[in-house]
Amino acid sequence: MDLLNQLLAIDPNYIIIGLLVLFFTLEQIMESSFKFKNRVNHLFQNILFQIVLVTLNIICFTVVVLSIEWLNEHEMGLLYFIELPFWVKLFLSVALYDITTYWIHRASHKIPLLWRLHRVHHSDTTMDSSTVFRFHPLELILIYQTGNIITAALFGTDMFALALYYFTLYIFFFFEHTNLNFPKWIDKTLGLIFVMPNHHRVHHQQEQFYTDSNFADIFIVWDRLFGTFKEMPVEKMKYGLKEFKGKEKQSFLYLMKSPFLNIKRIETEK
Ligand SMILES: [Zn+2]
Ligand SMILES: [Zn+2]
Repeated sequence: MDLLNQLLAIDPNYIIIGLLVLFFTLEQIMESSFKFKNRVNHLFQNILFQIVLVTLNIICFTVVVLSIEWLNEHEMGLLYFIELPFWVKLFLSVALYDITTYWIHRASHKIPLLWRLHRVHHSDTTMDSSTVFRFHPLELILIYQTGNIITAALFGTDMFALALYYFTLYIFFFFEHTNLNFPKWIDKTLGLIFVMPNHHRVHHQQEQFYTDSNFADIFIVWDRLFGTFKEMPVEKMKYGLKEFKGKEKQSFLYLMKSPFLNIKRIETEK
């Protein structure tokens, strides 16, 4: 418990920088299936998203913390009505934050207004660890943080569980997006419960049939349970969205304004 407290007390930005340095270096020195040029420019464009997010989060996160603490003080949500051991409650809370994220993510592929924000993440044609940062800040702040508050209101999850959720989420995020080869056996073992890189790579396919699958971030069981789990051979993978091809459309500035532009989806044939 002490160890967990100490881990969660570390500034998340340090953990994120540490994970980026680790995975980015490994991608540079180890064998990967999807080699691409100009990794530094790709990193630079993606880091700009994180800088905007961290800046906006100074205000936004205060709102989230105050809202969730208020809900907890008033003992709102399902978990306040059930007597459970601390660790069970903590695990359940992390799983509940994750399942809400699954449904919001799934809705973001169905609802055109949400897709305008979410397609920024899918626009990356050359995926590596820095793709973790490629999210429109408004999506993470307005949509996903609202989801966290709703989770706390419905289920009574608290800030400690949310901190643990984000700690776990960022480790999985880097693991899922990294451009490294992993042994196939992990898909058949850990991949029965958790999201593996090959699962999330399917989600980044150009072809919508595959893009609309594997929505989970930590527990792949949500996709298996709700019928959105798909697999495909790694050799056939092609990342990104056709409508975002080209240097200008991969730039930070274009992507930041892209939710406000009418961009038609270009479907890829099977
Ligand atoms: Zn998606
Ligand atoms: Zn992704």
